[in-house]
Amino acid sequence: MNALPPHSHTVRTTCPYCGVGCGVLATPDGNGGATISGDSRHPANSGRLCSKGAALGETLSLGQRLLHPMLRQADGSLGRVNWDTALGAVAGGLRVIADRDGPGAIAFYLSGQLLTEDYYVANKLMKGFLGSANVDTNSRLCMASSVAGHRRAFGADTVPGIYRDLDEADLVVLVGSNAAWCHPVLYQRIVAARSERSAKLIVIDPRRTATAEDADLFLSIAPGMDTALFCGLLAHLAQTQAFDRGYIDSYTTGFDEALARAGEIAGDVAATARATALDEADVARFFELFRSTERVVTCYSQGVNQSAQGTDKVNAIINVHLATGRIGRPGMGPFSFTGQPNAMGGREVGGLANQLAAHMGFAPAELDRVRRFWNAPRLVTGEGLKAVDMFEAIERGTIKALWIMATNPAVSLPRAGAMRAALQNLDLFVVCENVLSNDTVNAGAQVLLPAVAWGEKDGTVTNSERRISRQRAFLPPPGEARPDWWIVSEVARRLNFGAAFDYRSPAAVFREHATLSAFENGGRRDFDIGALASLSDEAYDALDAVMWPARAGEPRFEQRFFGAGGFFTQDRRARFVAPQSPRLHAATNEAFPLRLNTGRVRDQWHTMTRTGTSPRLSAHSPEPFIEVHPADAEQAKLADGGFAKITTPYGNVVLKVVLRTGQQRGSIFAPMHWSDATAAHARVGDTVSAANDPVSGQPEAKATPARIEPVAYAYRGFVLTRRSIGLPAGTWYARVAVTGGIGLLLATHEPPAFWRDLAPRLMPDGAELAEYIDQSRGVTRIAAFSSGRFDGSIFVGPERAPPQWDVVRALFETGTISERDRRMLLSGRSADGMAETGPVICACFGVGLSAIREIIAAGAGNVADIGRALRAGTNCGSCVPELRVIIERSAQAA
Ligand code: SF4
Repeated sequence: MNALPPHSHTVRTTCPYCGVGCGVLATPDGNGGATISGDSRHPANSGRLCSKGAALGETLSLGQRLLHPMLRQADGSLGRVNWDTALGAVAGGLRVIADRDGPGAIAFYLSGQLLTEDYYVANKLMKGFLGSANVDTNSRLCMASSVAGHRRAFGADTVPGIYRDLDEADLVVLVGSNAAWCHPVLYQRIVAARSERSAKLIVIDPRRTATAEDADLFLSIAPGMDTALFCGLLAHLAQTQAFDRGYIDSYTTGFDEALARAGEIAGDVAATARATALDEADVARFFELFRSTERVVTCYSQGVNQSAQGTDKVNAIINVHLATGRIGRPGMGPFSFTGQPNAMGGREVGGLANQLAAHMGFAPAELDRVRRFWNAPRLVTGEGLKAVDMFEAIERGTIKALWIMATNPAVSLPRAGAMRAALQNLDLFVVCENVLSNDTVNAGAQVLLPAVAWGEKDGTVTNSERRISRQRAFLPPPGEARPDWWIVSEVARRLNFGAAFDYRSPAAVFREHATLSAFENGGRRDFDIGALASLSDEAYDALDAVMWPARAGEPRFEQRFFGAGGFFTQDRRARFVAPQSPRLHAATNEAFPLRLNTGRVRDQWHTMTRTGTSPRLSAHSPEPFIEVHPADAEQAKLADGGFAKITTPYGNVVLKVVLRTGQQRGSIFAPMHWSDATAAHARVGDTVSAANDPVSGQPEAKATPARIEPVAYAYRGFVLTRRSIGLPAGTWYARVAVTGGIGLLLATHEPPAFWRDLAPRLMPDGAELAEYIDQSRGVTRIAAFSSGRFDGSIFVGPERAPPQWDVVRALFETGTISERDRRMLLSGRSADGMAETGPVICACFGVGLSAIREIIAAGAGNVADIGRALRAGTNCGSCVPELRVIIERSAQAA
């Protein structure tokens, strides 16, 4: 393993969140923390970071870390063991199950959070040496439809374009992508291009998201009807003779069938408008803008991928670019925005069950090549089980051993409750993790292996534009944490495969991966980084971000693909794909009249195990919520700010109601982040259908039939505490990171007397408690002081007038409290007139809604005015669309 740089040395690394892959500068402070800034030399972000990346320094604490190997004991508890014992338990368990039940009874579930080196070694052990192809990854939930669409059209999983195309396009079409929140730095590039070169932006999404606020045209498409829209566009391009016949004839096949199918699905503007529930005029405007603009990039993300017809949607988009020859040239092409930091790296090494390695599949020649390269006599012969099928096999009991690395499927899978329960069926359940407790670990993991986390990891990731960047360690591994590649290699050694896993460093793994990419390649495979196969350890350490392909002996440049054909099919021609007629996988009915759409919020990532520890990031959307159109809310008797139970055929959750006119009637939206570790009764994955795309296997996370009904609580309030506590069953809560402790926003039926009795157990031992109780109004306010320090509080009030927590939280975060503030505390006001901040809009500078409204009332008329007065929106820009909405709403209200 590499030596660490000395403290105060700034390290160039890469953000661990989304697929933009921003370069980060980390300067350790010598006390386990680090100062974070954007890397101006990194081509993906040129120094910019979004709110999540900018807050990385707040997420480095070791408070919740898994620091030692643990084994489940006979009494059900987890006990600390040494590495040798833990690794022996894993190897021994795998051997027994492989011998008894065959290698098909073993599965690995990996993650787009893993580094390429980790991914490579895990895939090699399973597919090459254990002889099971049941290696899948959470990228199945994220990118699989894009991968399948690329492979169908191009013959390989190739992203044709590069980020610079976004700067150079005259029209950017975002489909199913809330890029302003989910790929913020790329979105800011698009926004900059709009102002610099008057590029147009079209947003296609059922929801009016923050991204749509900036659009020249927003198409609020009916859920699942993207294929119809792009078939209509293909038909329109035919009618207006906008095709590039030269490109079609020279480089593609299947055009006539695809065009005929498009005509059947949506033959003209009117038919498209009917199929998509859009205005004819809007459809016509989109078609005309696309037809008349040569430089057009169509970007798509989870709104397209997470669908039971996701692959067809991807191919319908690719079809219009192939038909116009707008691919692989500056400022044009279809562009899949990758969700995770290393989904692309996982695809490169074969981390999906339907890939082998280095962008090879399971054709006899490919199997033979990889067998020889790995010297792997037990190489698999075909595809393994994809994520949903894999967990259903665990449910049925046919998979008996599962090793999960760096992901939390007990929360994120569809039908998550049933999948979590299925984990109990396993004979061997191993988890490589950073955190000591999450829903997957708590589902009965038998062996817990502590893996290094971001800041300690060392290796590479590949972003959405095929750019390989180094994640470098700038902190020492805590406790006994080890890299995932090392853990897998040590298990391989105990299984007598040591000769093939004799890696001394991530650089050694990378060299082998790069060598395989070039092995018998000869330009037949897109993924080739042979130029990096002989990097010395020093050169690997110093590696600048590099885009693939990087073929040995060829000049290095940022290559676009397919501008002049050169596809990776047998005949080197692209395939037009005739898609199926679009339809949703399950109809709504009387019992489930709505459609549940799931997604992300701006400042959280996945299941919040990292971002959920940042007070700054927790301030924007602190509670799990459900967005409902006001008319649907009225019909269901829901109140804004109240609570609702959402039920689907698979499960139910209770969430806070947010009314949004940008939400389509008939659709409701919930973020997917919260789990049992962070909230009560808010695991949205429990309610999501496991129906999936027949080609990609990607689950439909956007359109589960659902119903909604109000839930009433007698009281609302919050707890602020410096120690871990539980709340009584029946009380709804959401855990919120605050500086120096945690907050619990709660709703409950428990009366004031209950909280008064409970206070001594929730507050620090020996604390002096001050209280204000008004039985008649149902008000309880309790504050705890230890040696003059404000150490905790419980504020509970009637549901119709819940206590506001901003001021109390601010005093708690300060800790020290003046005598005057102490006297004022139980009123929920501070003595110095500190006002309620409202929800934080600008995470970078902690600017709340109240301050923004005040400055607008004082005359600020645009985002720049707000920025000058409060700095809000002047750093990462993630909050700019929300600032615009606040200005607009204030103007309407005035
Ligand atoms: S856009 Fe934000 S989350 Fe994504 S890589 Fe960049 S800093 Fe990280």
